[in-house]
Amino acid sequence: MPTYSVNAVNVASFPLGETDKVVTVFSAERGLIKCVAKGARKPGSKIGGRAELLNVNKLLLATGRTFEIISQAETLETFPKLRGDLERLAYSLYYAELTSIFGQGLNDESSSYFDFLVMSLRYQSLSDSDPAYLCLMFELRLLETLGYRPELTVCVNCRSVLTDHAIAGFHFELGGIVCERCHLEGKRTKVTMRVAEDEGIYETPGVDKLDKHVTPMVWKRLVLASAGSDVPDAHLESDGVKRATRAAHRVIEGYIEYRAGRRIKSLSLLENAQTP
Ligand SMILES: [Zn+2]
Repeated sequence: MPTYSVNAVNVASFPLGETDKVVTVFSAERGLIKCVAKGARKPGSKIGGRAELLNVNKLLLATGRTFEIISQAETLETFPKLRGDLERLAYSLYYAELTSIFGQGLNDESSSYFDFLVMSLRYQSLSDSDPAYLCLMFELRLLETLGYRPELTVCVNCRSVLTDHAIAGFHFELGGIVCERCHLEGKRTKVTMRVAEDEGIYETPGVDKLDKHVTPMVWKRLVLASAGSDVPDAHLESDGVKRATRAAHRVIEGYIEYRAGRRIKSLSLLENAQTP
């Protein structure tokens, strides 16, 4: 059987047969790969620990019929601090789930995405910054890499520059923030459009429905995170700012689910982790 070696992060897994496990890894060399860790569910198995989610390994893989087979695994990084912090662990598992969902679209830039994922896990594990803010930066960078970068600085409908007083909310289908004027226009033209249609006139509609309301403070968190700006340590930030960061994360989470066309499962773990 031909073999090859990759550096990879474990991003998803499911049990196979009596004692095996199928692990989805994101590798620097080939992007997403599904591989079997034989005997990984046997108590005390050496490969079992290496097959845990979020671990980074150097793998020697043999080409199999359905899945690749792990013939050797050497641990490179395990992020032990994450295991002791439920909220940071939940965000990290969310990174892993997003990677397993969107990973096929990242295969062309597998090497740089692998570096970015490992660096993001390292930040979540070691940094004192607000974990929700780190997650927001991760989400926005991932969307950008996939070509779904949300429009945050000009109205996604009319392209006018956004300011504190001009923000209405986020529109998933249009992929960005809609200004107050377009939103009001949209609500108004719902009535006038009927008349216009009778007369054979069709006006450009505004945006009557928004998917998420966005306040100026939430908008600022989005813009800051999108620019990749660092923030002070979590304990130096006010509760109001932290709440705005979480609200910003929920806006982007909704947009990601819209793009994925499905619920992201690790989010329920995150909601539990955030309950005081
Ligand atoms: Zn507008």
